[in-house]
Amino acid sequence: MSESKEVEMVLPISYPSPGAMGKTGIWRVFKPVIDLSKCIKCWQCWLYCPEDTVVMEGDHPKIDYEYCKGCGVCKEVCRAGAISMIREGG
Ligand code: SF4
Ligand code: SF4
Repeated sequence: MSESKEVEMVLPISYPSPGAMGKTGIWRVFKPVIDLSKCIKCWQCWLYCPEDTVVMEGDHPKIDYEYCKGCGVCKEVCRAGAISMIREGG
């Protein structure tokens, strides 16, 4: 006979926050820029961003530049070619 047990689930979700060196957006050399006219709202950028800095704003993605490190993962996974990496200050 099987016995049912309640199991507490803990999800390892983290959110962007200042580290020892401050806000991580200052590390960035290249900045991702989304062209919303090309965006098909597939949310792959949101899903794969390792820093959780792609956020949903209404029905479209937006990048939190205070914490985005400019790794370019969002550009690589965007099948619509909606994300460009632009050199900071360029
Ligand atoms: S460049 Fe990297 S950190 Fe910045 S939004 Fe894209 S995936 Fe996230
Ligand atoms: S991956 Fe590209 S097309 Fe998909 S939501 Fe992000 S910017 Fe838009």
